[in-house]
Amino acid sequence: MPAHSKTLSHHIRPAAWSAALLAGFVVQLLLILFVTTIGLQQLGITTHNLDTVVNVHMRKQNLTKTMLSVARERTLIMLTLSKVDDPFERDDLLTRFNEKGAEYVVARQTLQGMPLNDREHKLIARQQQLIQVAQPIQTEVIDLINAQFNREAERVTLTRAIPTQNQVLAVLFQLDAETQQVALAASRKAYEAQRVARFWMYLLCGAALVVGVIVAAVVLRYTTRISLEREHLAIHDALTSLPNRRLLLEHLEQALAHGRRHKTQIGILFIDLDNFKRVNDTLGHAVGDQLICQVAQRLRSAVRSNDLVARLGGDEFVVVMSDVRAASQIFHVVDKILAVMVVPYQIAERELFNSCSIGISVYPTDGASSSDLLKNADTAMYYAKSSGKNRYHLYDAAMNAMAEERLQLDTDLHHALERNEFSFYYQPQVNLDSGRTCTVEALIRWNHPEKGLLSPAAFLDMLEDTGEILPVGRMLLGAACTQGARWHAAGFNDLVIAINVSSKEFWNCDLLSNVQSALAQSGLPPQSLQLELTEGILMGDMDAAAHKILELKALGVSIAIDDFGTGYSSLAHLKRFPLDVLKIDRYFVKDLRHDSVNEALVNSILALCKGLNLDTVAEGVETRSQLDVLHKIGCPVVQGYLISQPVPAENILALLQRDWRQALGLHIDPAA
Ligand code: C2E
Ligand code: CA
Ligand code: CA
Repeated sequence: MPAHSKTLSHHIRPAAWSAALLAGFVVQLLLILFVTTIGLQQLGITTHNLDTVVNVHMRKQNLTKTMLSVARERTLIMLTLSKVDDPFERDDLLTRFNEKGAEYVVARQTLQGMPLNDREHKLIARQQQLIQVAQPIQTEVIDLINAQFNREAERVTLTRAIPTQNQVLAVLFQLDAETQQVALAASRKAYEAQRVARFWMYLLCGAALVVGVIVAAVVLRYTTRISLEREHLAIHDALTSLPNRRLLLEHLEQALAHGRRHKTQIGILFIDLDNFKRVNDTLGHAVGDQLICQVAQRLRSAVRSNDLVARLGGDEFVVVMSDVRAASQIFHVVDKILAVMVVPYQIAERELFNSCSIGISVYPTDGASSSDLLKNADTAMYYAKSSGKNRYHLYDAAMNAMAEERLQLDTDLHHALERNEFSFYYQPQVNLDSGRTCTVEALIRWNHPEKGLLSPAAFLDMLEDTGEILPVGRMLLGAACTQGARWHAAGFNDLVIAINVSSKEFWNCDLLSNVQSALAQSGLPPQSLQLELTEGILMGDMDAAAHKILELKALGVSIAIDDFGTGYSSLAHLKRFPLDVLKIDRYFVKDLRHDSVNEALVNSILALCKGLNLDTVAEGVETRSQLDVLHKIGCPVVQGYLISQPVPAENILALLQRDWRQALGLHIDPAA
């Protein structure tokens, strides 16, 4: 299922997206604002233009036409007057003649009050001049009619009044033509302005539409990508992008359906890193995360492309191998995984070593449902882990009993503290020069009601995982100090009590006050208490660790570095810490023979410790020959089964009284 292992190549940067969206919306808004403003403005102009055309130019034309018709009518009245004999009819005509005259004047004055161009002004002025010539002639005609000289009146009308009136009419015709032309130009202008406005409106509306479409497209793309990413996150692990438990179960169900139909096998590999907790606790979560990512990559590279690699969380991975034809296929992949996992990891300029334990369950032999198969692979993994790590185990039904036992142990452990089931065994450290027990190391034991005495290997992990190591450690610290004070009271007032402090305890902020109150309540002098820290504790946040050690040392207690040589540190690193004792791990003592590589190694550790002013203790001394080499190369203090196993407190007094030089025969010169 290669698609599952694919990650979304580009993660969405929300800031960039929202900035782009905001910009889009702002542009859109501005465009709309712009379109509206321009639109309103153009509407105003068009309205104004129409207004001018209707109110000014049409009115001007009407007025000119009125003047024309009035002038014509007056000419006609004059002609008629000279032919009318009835005085009433004549009066009527005269009245109309005068009314028309007034109408003419009103029309002209109104016209003059309107916006006129030069030519219109000139034509009106010319018309006025002609009227001034025509007026006295008309008055003369009226006078002649009133005096009843009709013939003479007719003659004057025909020869003088009408020709001048015709001149007026000619000017009025010109004026009419002019106003028509101006009106035409104005309406053309209005039309042109409206055309320009329409063009801009179309252009801007189009732009707003395009921007709107772009913004909508961006929003659509953004939301689809977000929902895709959400979907991806829901079924993938955020750190490694591998499928998570949900997708694993879905995939497994599909694989099972396929297996049932085609009668094929399915291999489920449950993979757990062997030292992840230690890396995480000592080097910090950032390093732990990087390790997990590298492990994820290696796992993917070790399996076939259609196998699923999922991360369940923490350092747990599951591989599902579908369509398995033969078990050898599974073992081939498992071997490959074990091999790639032990290649050193380069993280934060460090070389880290890790391995993994693998449990295998196979469909249909080890279960028919996904939950059974996963549970059984987990159980098999646990078995692989407890039989020495860096290996695999196939599930078999007997393992269930073991898993159940562990579950039971976990439950029992919760009640162990309140039931007072924890105690210390003590193991002496002997100074080979004086032959005396200088220190006793307190080692936790659990007196299980059914299983009897259990060593830390059986339960310490669980105590640390649940955090219960903190109250348990505090109780034991008090008990060890009280016990130490008793031995002091019995006369062994140089005896030092060594206590192991786990990473969780070391970093717990109550450690200082716990040590202080344990010392105060027991009366044990601070210099008689030694705290053993593993080097891994110091290698995480070195500055914080150094600070904490200084605070502890200020109380007067001494600090030993435990299991030296098994962690990541070197003596060069340890120089930074104000330590008192270095305990060489059992691993180096195990193969200690004369002229062996380990002899040279231990020898150089001793030399370096001398340089750093550190006391040295060799751990795990089991044989006489190991002791002889250590004695020869000058290791001052030894601890191990050869001297004594860890024993209950009541057995210690006898050991304290013993002269070990004599007991071990060291007082006899080997040359003698
Ligand atoms: P450690 O601090 O390295 O303790 C020495 C372990 O080596 C003890 O195992 C001891 O029984 C064992 N040992 C001593 N001499 C020999 C020897 O000659 N040969 C062999 N093969 N083993 C020897 P134990 O008591 O099972 O403790 C195991 C580890 O559990 C300790 O290793 C220590 O890291 C941890 N531990 C023990 N007690 C406590 C405790 O009270 N608190 C904490 N935090 N850790 C503890
Ligand atoms: Ca120890
Ligand atoms: Ca040790």
